[in-house]
Amino acid sequence: MTRDFAVVGGGIVGCALAAFLAEGGANVTLYEREAIAAGASGRNSGVVQDPLDPELTALYEESLGHYRDLEGFDLPEHPSGLLLIHEEPFEHDGAELIEDPQRLEPALQPGLFARRIDTGRPVPPAAAARAWAQRAQRAGAKIELGSDGPTSGPRIIAAGPWTRELVALPIAPVWGVVVDVELSDAPTHVLEEAGIDALTSEDLPDVLFSAVTARGISAIGSTFMPDKPEPEALAPEILANARRFLADLGSVRGLRACARPGSADGRPMLGRIEEELYVASGHGAWGITLGPASARLVADLALGRPVEIPPALDVRRFSAPTSS
Ligand SMILES: Cc1cc2nc3c(=O)[nH]c(=O)nc-3n(C[C@H](O)[C@H](O)[C@H](O)COP(=O)(O)OP(=O)(O)OC[C@H]3O[C@@H](n4cnc5c(N)ncnc54)[C@H](O)[C@@H]3O)c2cc1C
Repeated sequence: MTRDFAVVGGGIVGCALAAFLAEGGANVTLYEREAIAAGASGRNSGVVQDPLDPELTALYEESLGHYRDLEGFDLPEHPSGLLLIHEEPFEHDGAELIEDPQRLEPALQPGLFARRIDTGRPVPPAAAARAWAQRAQRAGAKIELGSDGPTSGPRIIAAGPWTRELVALPIAPVWGVVVDVELSDAPTHVLEEAGIDALTSEDLPDVLFSAVTARGISAIGSTFMPDKPEPEALAPEILANARRFLADLGSVRGLRACARPGSADGRPMLGRIEEELYVASGHGAWGITLGPASARLVADLALGRPVEIPPALDVRRFSAPTSS
């Protein structure tokens, strides 16, 4: 028997879901109220990177495999490397100490401390969602833009931070603003302020430094805020923070802001919440990195294949959710 599914949300997660479901033989329609990659999936910093959380390692590694197989998507073969940097000496498990960071990355301020991890593959921000949408269509999925989709029947909600409008789940927006600059010595590594991986810490500052360079443009980030910010008003603060690490910020080329779908522990929320209602959301800072494997898990569950959602990712781990 062929199953019918509505997927709600045309970000990385919804597009990959539509592809896996259609390839599994289902009749799939993806409903997107704006455009493919209109949300964070089109406005992120654009790096596929180990989240350095053991509960997420399997999703990260499986997603790398899916990206390698994804037609029309160029996953860099080798990681460019993640350079954690700080003004004070710091430790980081498994990270190699870099004695003279400025020699490795001339754009850095002198006197910084750095450790390197062999991860981080920069990709254009919207490329993944678009390539998955095309794969879904090749497999026979229909895409309806400008539509919220049905409110009953077999549905999979992948509506990013808007998921909680449809399902009573603890998924909150975490607003990120990124400033694009052109640096004279563009870093070859992904740069991050040490400590940025503790993204669910309660005393996390509003602005944390990161820099992801692709095609000569460095995306300087980022903010982690509960309320929608004024991006233009925040840009000077983001750049002032970045000057702690980068000597010359070059010229500003653009600015973008979007909400991440944040769960309480920073991990995805995946699974079934009612007989015909499934969720794949809550990817926070890691949706580009983890979205394909999350989508595969939930697609297999919806298709009735034998699959177990890991308890640390189960949508029911905080409380029993209901549709709203
Ligand atoms: C500044 C910033 C930098 C980031 N950098 C990285 C990074 O470097 N690496 C990484 O892995 N991740 C990164 N992320 C996180 C990543 O972008 C997100 O986790 C991911 O894009 C979320 O994908 P999603 O499909 O769940 O949601 P979204 O991309 O938000 O997509 C949800 C879609 O659903 C649609 N929608 C909502 N409600 C409805 C409805 N009722 N009906 C129909 N459609 C609806 C929306 O229009 C939207 O298009 C970053 C995020 C930000 C904001």
